[in-house]
Amino acid sequence: MRSFVFERAADLPQAVKLGAGTRQGQTDAPAQFLAGGTTLIDLMKLEVLTPQRVVHLQSPGAPWSAIEVSPNGARLGAFAKMSTVADDARVLAQYPVIAQSLQLAASAQIRNMATLGGNVLQRTRCPYYRDPSWSACNKRVPGSGCAAIHGFNRNHAILGVDENCISQYPGDFAIALIALDARVELMGAEGTRLIPFASLHTGVQSQPHIETTLKPGEIIIAFHVPAGAWTRRSLYLKVRDRASYEFAIASAAVALSIEGEEVREARIGLGGMAYRPWRSQEAENILIGNPLTESSAAAAAAAALKSAIGHGHNDYKPELARRTIVRALLEAKALQLSSGAS
Ligand SMILES: Cc1cc2nc3c(=O)[nH]c(=O)nc-3n(C[C@H](O)[C@H](O)[C@H](O)COP(=O)(O)OP(=O)(O)OC[C@H]3O[C@@H](n4cnc5c(N)ncnc54)[C@H](O)[C@@H]3O)c2cc1C
Repeated sequence: MRSFVFERAADLPQAVKLGAGTRQGQTDAPAQFLAGGTTLIDLMKLEVLTPQRVVHLQSPGAPWSAIEVSPNGARLGAFAKMSTVADDARVLAQYPVIAQSLQLAASAQIRNMATLGGNVLQRTRCPYYRDPSWSACNKRVPGSGCAAIHGFNRNHAILGVDENCISQYPGDFAIALIALDARVELMGAEGTRLIPFASLHTGVQSQPHIETTLKPGEIIIAFHVPAGAWTRRSLYLKVRDRASYEFAIASAAVALSIEGEEVREARIGLGGMAYRPWRSQEAENILIGNPLTESSAAAAAAAALKSAIGHGHNDYKPELARRTIVRALLEAKALQLSSGAS
């Protein structure tokens, strides 16, 4: 690990000032923010990131880590620990998909350290990105190529990829957020702004090293999740190589509103298979207005995977992903909700 200057911000406005040099896509960016440190410190030890200055976001007190749930929706402070939100009774009751996406992530120790903001900004687990001895990685060294395309790519993405990068977005919580149409509250040098969560992460385009639309120095301060009839009939299904402490190879965040036999609303987020947090409105449109059956779920899953591309070792993923979506939808339909919910 290279030496760096460590600074503690007294509050978030000061953190914004201290973090003015934070830049994505620049391994030696002048500054990086530190929240729980469970991603950043690993990447610094590996010398994938070599910031000159680390700014500790040291304001975990209210309102930055507060969890608020009202009839109008939820506001989850970005500095709340993953474990705190996963165990919150109101989140468990009103937004089970969010609680499950956090419970099924990482280990208990990591969930106790890691924050929601750091979780959505975690970097890919692509081994060619995380090991600087590989020279070809467009995400780490822009313009150097992608070693994974012709390398060992069993865990790599099948949706949203191109010849520049086939890395996979690894997080779970982001998949629940994108399914539920969440928004992100940001604080930067020009004040605060609210953006759709779906526009936080960029697509691969030709610049894999630019991963988000955050401006230099901008900090995530909260996630806003709307209320809706569909949030209670929701779940997160995560498929992985072992039952705990493992990233998804396929996952689905689904939320449904069903009246009588008819699906009135459907939300489908996909993880473990795409370059960025992925929502499939094609699949949702097939379900809405129709009864949810095994065959409509299969049609929706096929639509979600229509543009999937494998690169050899990950050719098994489209079929696994289809089955994951079908199972998640049928399990969500079968949920027994208390009265008043659909
Ligand atoms: C062994 C292991 C297994 C894991 N398994 C899973 C898993 O199954 N599922 C899963 O989802 N995750 C998994 N993770 C990832 C883990 O959940 C993340 O490391 C963690 O959530 C990051 O949060 P943090 O607060 O520690 O972030 P940090 O490491 O402090 O920060 C991560 C990045 O986000 C930036 N940042 C942090 N907070 C903010 C903010 N508020 N505003 C702007 N920038 C910010 C930092 O500058 C840094 O670049 C695993 C991690 C490990 C080490």
